[in-house]
Amino acid sequence: MKLLEDRIRKDGIVRPGGVLKVDSFINHQMDIHLFREMAREWKRLFAAKPINKVLTIEASGIGIAAIVAAELDVPVVFAKKAMSINLDYDNYETRIQSFTHKKIYNVIVSKKFLGPDDHLLIVDDFLANGCALVGLLDLADRAGATVEGIGIAIEKGFQPGGEVIRARGIQLESLAIVDAMDDETGAITFRPQPHQS
Ligand code: 5GP
Repeated sequence: MKLLEDRIRKDGIVRPGGVLKVDSFINHQMDIHLFREMAREWKRLFAAKPINKVLTIEASGIGIAAIVAAELDVPVVFAKKAMSINLDYDNYETRIQSFTHKKIYNVIVSKKFLGPDDHLLIVDDFLANGCALVGLLDLADRAGATVEGIGIAIEKGFQPGGEVIRARGIQLESLAIVDAMDDETGAITFRPQPHQS
């Protein structure tokens, strides 16, 4: 999506270790106009899918997912990070290795809010190694829900997550795929995606 790629080029900051900072428009300050345009693009890309709920993970997925849910006119649920093992049988639970904090989290969703009738669009801000998405897919699986697709704002194509998810046959639409970035020059190379706007 050209709008997002242009914004990343303008305001994204390439950090050492393959980290892209987008604090001024996604991860700290949030550009709601941009989120709305992203939501409209996902609505177009997933138009054939009977989505009736959006699923994301706290914290940074929530802002984008809320705007997507408003655009699709469906509820949004976020998986919560719990520090300790929670022996609460009212929750589905899985474990996720965090890319940014290098920790393992227990992640939960209440059984009240995820079940076999749900046709999900999973939304998140970044796709790196794919751990967050694999965890969300596991929660959906435990709940008997159907994953209709996954919408990611920024995929880092030089990390393995995208391949892991596409190998499962799930429609994954990352609105910007960064194939390379250089922390010395700040140069960013995007993968061409002709089916996107
Ligand atoms: P994964 O689980 O795919 O390895 O990492 C995904 C999660 O890590 C995302 O939800 C995002 O919060 C965080 N993340 C991964 N890479 C980056 C990055 O380069 N920049 C930022 N801001 N967050 C990232």
